[in-house]
Amino acid sequence: MKTVVLMLAAGSGSRMGLKQNKVFLSLGGKSVLQRSMEAFASIADEIIVVHRPGEEEPARAETEKVSFSGILRLVPGGATRQDSVENGLAQSDCRPEDLILIHDSARCLITPGLIRRIRDTAMEKGAAIPGLPATNTIKVCREEKVLETPDRSLLYEIQTPQACRADWLQEAFARARQDGFQGTDDASLLEHCGYPVAVVRGERNNIKLTTGEDVQMAESVLGLSSRLPRVGHGYDVHRFAEDRKLILCGVEIPWEKGLLGHSDADVAVHALMDAMLGAAGLGDIGLHFPDTDSRYKGISSLLLLKETVRLLQANGYELINADLTIVAQKPKLRPYISRMTDTLSDVLGVDPSRLNVKATTTEGLGFEGRMEGISAQAVCLILPVTAEGTPAAP
Ligand code: MG
Repeated sequence: MKTVVLMLAAGSGSRMGLKQNKVFLSLGGKSVLQRSMEAFASIADEIIVVHRPGEEEPARAETEKVSFSGILRLVPGGATRQDSVENGLAQSDCRPEDLILIHDSARCLITPGLIRRIRDTAMEKGAAIPGLPATNTIKVCREEKVLETPDRSLLYEIQTPQACRADWLQEAFARARQDGFQGTDDASLLEHCGYPVAVVRGERNNIKLTTGEDVQMAESVLGLSSRLPRVGHGYDVHRFAEDRKLILCGVEIPWEKGLLGHSDADVAVHALMDAMLGAAGLGDIGLHFPDTDSRYKGISSLLLLKETVRLLQANGYELINADLTIVAQKPKLRPYISRMTDTLSDVLGVDPSRLNVKATTTEGLGFEGRMEGISAQAVCLILPVTAEGTPAAP
């Protein structure tokens, strides 16, 4: 079963007073269309971008900024939203049981989490749409006179993506054409056909950019989330070996054995590096410093830590604090803790008050207790340096 996304980008910017199509509007350095595409990239097998006639080139340029490994098509839209969806649908070679997700690309704050919830519900029930229970009283009016006040507990504000089995959707569109039925969303065509549509709780921030005020709100949502701190965790183990130096947090500790590894096997620094890379969403130590690379043979892990700091800076992050636990039955590490902290502080370029190194035993239990090796764990907190510091892909 395939997941096909119809990305509607054929709207205009007229209600915002824009000369250009609002999907090309830049928010924090990325266009509305690019942001919407990115949210679907890890979930979709196929994305069909329905662009305004004559805008294939700028639309393609935005899609090329997104790392997406599935099938990508660009299709010109029609006179109405319904025509645009039909044009897109006609281009897909989907099978009856495939799932179609239709999304207004102007809802560029859509989260992958909401997309997955809609997709999973549609897989189970046939069709699903996101909706929020109405919080305002809504009245039916004509010529500025109230006709009636519907029961608010029955009213929902509906968003996109709207998801449906391909065969249901194709039938609903054929029926609408035959009956001359025009709906304001895709689900209303399914309802016209008598198909059940499930409602999944939408998200407040999944707003459709329609007015200048919406753009301001989207900018504040993005600004806020890009200034949120991020946490990371790291864990590493190295076994003891004869004729090796024991290096922990860059400090050489006199002991009968050392740790075995491709580098200097500084297990504590490795855990810290993994925590930092993890917090920044940059993968792990093996990705950046593979132990198959001869450049890293016997290298001081402090040099790798320095490179990790550079990677974080390049992605717009600074370290707030880190907490490290070294698990070793022997040797006693307490006498070396303050030297370890000072060494890390120098390399990381942060005040020692932001770093905490501690050591524990396991009371003889496990591989550490049997003195087969040493393990280390680290957690750290990082913060984007500026609101504009949008992290790059690893
Ligand atoms: Mg290691």
